[in-house]
Amino acid sequence: MKVTAFLIKYGEIAIKGKNRFMFEDALMRQIRFAMKPVGDFDVRKESGRMFVEGRGDFDYDEAVEALQKVFGIVGICPMVVEETKDIDHLRKTVLAFIDEQYPVKDFTFKVHARRGDKQFPMTSMELNMDIGEKLLDAFEGLKVDVHHPDVMVNIEVRKYIYIYSQEIKGPGGMPAGTNGRAMLLLSGGIDSPVAGYMIAKRGVRIDATYFHAPPYTSERAKQKVVDLAKIVAQYAGPIDLHVVNFTDIQLAIYEKCPHDELTIIMRRYMMKIAEHFAKEREDLALITGESIGQVASQTIHNLAITNEVCELPVFRPCIGMDKQEIVDIAEKIGTFETSIQPFEDCCTIFVAKHPVTKGNLKRIQKSEEHLKDVIDDLMKEAIDTTEVIHVK
Ligand code: ATP
Ligand code: MG
Repeated sequence: MKVTAFLIKYGEIAIKGKNRFMFEDALMRQIRFAMKPVGDFDVRKESGRMFVEGRGDFDYDEAVEALQKVFGIVGICPMVVEETKDIDHLRKTVLAFIDEQYPVKDFTFKVHARRGDKQFPMTSMELNMDIGEKLLDAFEGLKVDVHHPDVMVNIEVRKYIYIYSQEIKGPGGMPAGTNGRAMLLLSGGIDSPVAGYMIAKRGVRIDATYFHAPPYTSERAKQKVVDLAKIVAQYAGPIDLHVVNFTDIQLAIYEKCPHDELTIIMRRYMMKIAEHFAKEREDLALITGESIGQVASQTIHNLAITNEVCELPVFRPCIGMDKQEIVDIAEKIGTFETSIQPFEDCCTIFVAKHPVTKGNLKRIQKSEEHLKDVIDDLMKEAIDTTEVIHVK
């Protein structure tokens, strides 16, 4: 008895009152997007339930994996759909389903029937008893436990009859697009894809900006960032990745500013340019993968100085995490292997041997004055020549 459909359980969004429909629609939209590569699926709501039903054959594991990437889903119940309302046929279907789902027949169970269709000739109670008995007869190791069953056999009689028992954990969070949009500063590292994932999990759509410094950073370093954006997009939905040519700005900073302040000054211009695109796209915040104390540019002194150039709020979901905690998430979401590919990124080439760890805002601003004759033109040039890649 092959699984042909899934019942989708969604937690947090169910409590959103009037907004509930908006959240459900966003969830269905994202499920359709996620299931497209797996096959042809009908995604629908029916009496307060959400179903994803295959219109043809599909690979079960691929389908579950795709659903596990849809924020807003808390549980995925594989099920079979019985289209006739013939009781004998129903009995056979339930037995075959339980046989297939639980190869080892040594557990307690309870049948939980719900009759939404009052035309159906048996009450829920009668169905519970009838099917329970058939299961006991068919499989020797099974026992009934109505209080704490190992396996709950759910039978919902509605327009069709839905049979399910297992619940696979979904990713939780809120559906993509229900909480505005934000601009992610996406590098080729481990942290920023994780940061993007975490904010997207709360329903925020993601745009991204990557600072590229050819010829100091290669095409392959850029491709790595595109690949990372692709992985994050599996969860967050399509991402418009802005690839900014940052070389001339970096060279100017390198030439005119004290070397121990290079990273901080560079980061301030990155934030400014990212904020420019954020505003252009009506993003309401910036996102970075910064974590306190991870590197010299991320002491709280230097974070404060970086922050000083931004008008939009900056979300830093990794801020209180240790590297290993960030790595654990990167592994779970599938970005880690790509992040550790050894292509240089623009920060590593221009880093000073002894960067300042306790930057002084006034001094940094003074150093930036050395750029005043060139920086406006360079910023304009960088913005005008930015390439936007639509990643999905
Ligand atoms: P990650 O933090 O992603 O692992 P990293 O550690 O190399 O990369 P840092 O130098 O720690 O990056 O920079 C901190 C944050 O600044 C990053 O998380 C990212 O949000 C942003 N950032 C750094 N370099 C770039 C870049 N080349 N393009 C876009 N954003 C960048
Ligand atoms: Mg980092």
